[in-house]
Amino acid sequence: MTTPVTDYDTIIIGAGAAGISAARALREAGQKILCLEASPHIGGRARTDRDIFGVPFDLGAHWLHSGHINKLKTIGQEMGLDIYKTPETAITIGLEDDDDLWDPVEEVFERGIEKLTSTSNANVDFALAEFFEAHGPWAQTIKMMTGLSMARDLDQISLRDLASWAEGEDWFCREGFGTIISNLARDLPIRCNVPVTEIIAHPGHVSVTTSEGPLTARKVIVTVSVGVLSADVIRFDPPLDTERRRALDHITMGDYHHTALMFAPEAIPLEADSWLTYRIDAEKNGIPQGGGFLCNAGGTGLCNLETGGSFSRDLQDAPPEEAIGFALDTLVDQFGSDLRKHFIKGYVPRWRHEPFVRGSYSGAMPGGSAYREALCQPHADHVLFAGEAMSRGQQASVNGAYMEGQRAATEALLP
Ligand SMILES: Cc1cc2nc3c(=O)[nH]c(=O)nc-3n(C[C@H](O)[C@H](O)[C@H](O)COP(=O)(O)OP(=O)(O)OC[C@H]3O[C@@H](n4cnc5c(N)ncnc54)[C@H](O)[C@@H]3O)c2cc1C
Repeated sequence: MTTPVTDYDTIIIGAGAAGISAARALREAGQKILCLEASPHIGGRARTDRDIFGVPFDLGAHWLHSGHINKLKTIGQEMGLDIYKTPETAITIGLEDDDDLWDPVEEVFERGIEKLTSTSNANVDFALAEFFEAHGPWAQTIKMMTGLSMARDLDQISLRDLASWAEGEDWFCREGFGTIISNLARDLPIRCNVPVTEIIAHPGHVSVTTSEGPLTARKVIVTVSVGVLSADVIRFDPPLDTERRRALDHITMGDYHHTALMFAPEAIPLEADSWLTYRIDAEKNGIPQGGGFLCNAGGTGLCNLETGGSFSRDLQDAPPEEAIGFALDTLVDQFGSDLRKHFIKGYVPRWRHEPFVRGSYSGAMPGGSAYREALCQPHADHVLFAGEAMSRGQQASVNGAYMEGQRAATEALLP
């Protein structure tokens, strides 16, 4: 069979961390490539805005997780950006001893991991909720902190998925995490505002239908979120197989966002990048109605109320002024009503309503962690997949997405 002449060697769908990483690797390998991005922006869920508040504001990812293995930390340092270790300033208003909050959070994980390691069956899994035991006035705060980073309520967190996560110290980039990604995208052939609607695999090549017409390539790398894949925003021909469909039922998007508030400098009497927790009393159906604050981000007056799970979903569904009012009232409860005089403005990124994202990041439903493997498999030989959801060990992170982009690029270079 002769190889058909195609427009490109590889077309990459999505200009987030995974797509940019794949595009760079393939361009370095000498391929003719094109990256198609549906939204007006590059960076996907790792995007830094400078217009809303006049300072770098990460709309999505902000923490560079697991610094010892995070390639983007090194890359950011090589770019000359100010990459610094997350300060250990954690303040819990109302508790004399901070350990009374953090120890019970740790204990939930420890009880779970002990149970997991006591079974030799690799298919056994539990919901994190099974190991939550806290009672008393701080129970809701402890519950919130236990599930926060997983972007879902405790009964929807797979312990096995959580246990697979590579731990390590977190770092920040003062210029914004998204700045590292946008710098990496410089000079790449990326077309924004071009949604892909259809991918048709033929023997030996692939056609891609876009809002600007059809294109062809020998291979395609799809880096869209599992939220976009499961919502059938892109039609696949042949259709996605049963195993991948099953995987998309088990590896689903969670909800996490920050409600951002800008204050005059020094209005919040805390050091830069302080983590603030407070006593959460309100709950709805057992779900804590609150979050934690990252205060004075990067030394600015920016304070983010970080929320996850169904409470984040409810705040994103509410009118933005309601979410901003909630966050402001919560800080006023802690620091007094004078704080209102120093409030400048707020903003709520609503990731679950972004049509080309549809949530925050992936998590496995209890029992579903092994399905990440199925998501990595090629479709109809020439359609490859990459993105945070395919990572096993750094899932749900920018670095996980970046590494997955490299993996898919290596596969795209195979004959
Ligand atoms: C609020 C929030 C906080 C987070 N915090 C952290 C953190 O602190 N640290 C961390 O490491 N990670 C964090 N994450 C997760 C991290 O942002 C993601 O894991 C990572 O950015 C995902 O990269 P990706 O390339 O896999 O996907 P994406 O960034 O989603 O990139 C996919 C791209 O594909 C585009 N696309 C979708 N559909 C189409 C289509 N039909 N045609 C063309 N293009 C399309 C999208 O617009 C998008 O730009 C956070 C995420 C959120 C939302």
